[in-house]
Amino acid sequence: MELIYASTRNKEERVTASQAILKGLAKGGGLYVPTEIPALDIDMEKLSGMTYQETAYEVMRRFFTDFTEEELKHCISSAYDSKFDTEEIAPLVSAEGAYYLELFHGSTIAFKDMALSILPHLLITAARKNQVKNDIVILTATSGDTGKAALAGFADVEHTKIIVFYPKDGVSPIQKKQMVTQKGENTYVVGINGNFDQAQTGVKKMFSDEKLAEIMNQAGYQFSSANSINIGRLVPQIVYYVYAYAKLYAGGEITKGEKINVVVPTGNFGNILAAFYAKNMGLPIGKLICASNENKVLYDFFTTGTYDKNREFKLTSSPSMDILISSNLERLIYRLAGDDAEKNAEFMCALGKEGRYEITPKMREELKDFYGSYTTEEETAEFIRNLYEKTGYVIDTHTAVAAGVYEKYKKETGDSTKTVIASTASPFKFTRSVMDAIDRDKYSSLGDFELVDELSKIANVKVPQAIEEIRSAPELHKTVCEVDEMEEAVKKFLKI
Ligand SMILES: *Cc1c(COP(=O)(O)O)cnc(C)c1O
Repeated sequence: MELIYASTRNKEERVTASQAILKGLAKGGGLYVPTEIPALDIDMEKLSGMTYQETAYEVMRRFFTDFTEEELKHCISSAYDSKFDTEEIAPLVSAEGAYYLELFHGSTIAFKDMALSILPHLLITAARKNQVKNDIVILTATSGDTGKAALAGFADVEHTKIIVFYPKDGVSPIQKKQMVTQKGENTYVVGINGNFDQAQTGVKKMFSDEKLAEIMNQAGYQFSSANSINIGRLVPQIVYYVYAYAKLYAGGEITKGEKINVVVPTGNFGNILAAFYAKNMGLPIGKLICASNENKVLYDFFTTGTYDKNREFKLTSSPSMDILISSNLERLIYRLAGDDAEKNAEFMCALGKEGRYEITPKMREELKDFYGSYTTEEETAEFIRNLYEKTGYVIDTHTAVAAGVYEKYKKETGDSTKTVIASTASPFKFTRSVMDAIDRDKYSSLGDFELVDELSKIANVKVPQAIEEIRSAPELHKTVCEVDEMEEAVKKFLKI
């Protein structure tokens, strides 16, 4: 049976999975959501014997129903291959009473690789399926990790171009170096004098600009999105929750049907929404613990029912979570509103106009599966240091936000349910902050790559290929622009 996707803002707009992937964003700014969440109707015995790739197929075929088996399997095997430095793709590491689900073994060492290594294949397949003649222009705003992962995924993919906007002073030195050294004739990287939200707003504006779309079409181009608003990114993220659960079961860590909690360091609300979808498919997940850094707009939302982005934007040591507008939350709001596009559109309109909205008490009740908290910069650093001193295991700043929140959750609730923490980046990607956390006095005078070597020594982990590659790579992208010049930059690159 075909699964149809609806827009969160217009109940008339309905598309197939491949069309939703192609378009990225619905007309009028809505997001595509599946009209129902398919059941994970496979026996756990069977699931627990599956490889990552096999698990991916079982999850994806339930969502992407207009792809053939051959097409999906081809996309999966092209994505989850030797680009990952571990055969398991997403290994689980047990430390201090929690399971860290390491999602950073792909080519850019952050969890965005889990979805962005498959998205180009899904997109090209979707274009073929829908007889698209235009070249696809991927337009992306990044808080650091999406940009590089998308660039790596799309570089030199035929009939695509990729344009990435990042906040010039809002990403880590390693993140920046990874992006500006990107090879590929079809890649374009631009720093903006602004923050991530401004980059994202600029990109969304271009997406919904019909005049621009017409100019693009005349020149043989159309936009699509690699941001986590694309359903083609969200679904691949469901896979690793299913896989992690099955691996815990296979290893005898949990019994059949035993609930686990999941902690997710959250920015744009994509990763935790994938966990929510996994739960709704029937995976035994108890609490969905949403961890924020000092940009704690989500924590405030969960505790008050009011989403309010009118506040100071903070640059933290977990830049990929420095976000005040969590785009994917819209998909949850739509759901809480009883799949009511009109009602959701009202909330989103208020968010656009006043920067805030308040959900109804009834909708709040539906939020009981979620728990939100945050850590301060000091708490994040302290967690990294303590964990390292106790166990020798080094985690990155984003993962540390999650682990710190998990500690708070346990203290507050006494809940001892077995828990998976989404470990979203390699510590090598945020070396400066990680090493500062461990011993600032000792490491603060070292250069970025000296720190990399020190980290490798103290953690007893080989320097990842992604870091080795950029040590001496030349800077290829030097463009910087103002927020209101983003469209000009796009036109210049496409020569339109
Ligand atoms: C993107 C990112 C996050 C936030 O994920 P969302 O899906 O946007 O909530 C957390 N940690 C890292 C390392 C990231 O790159």
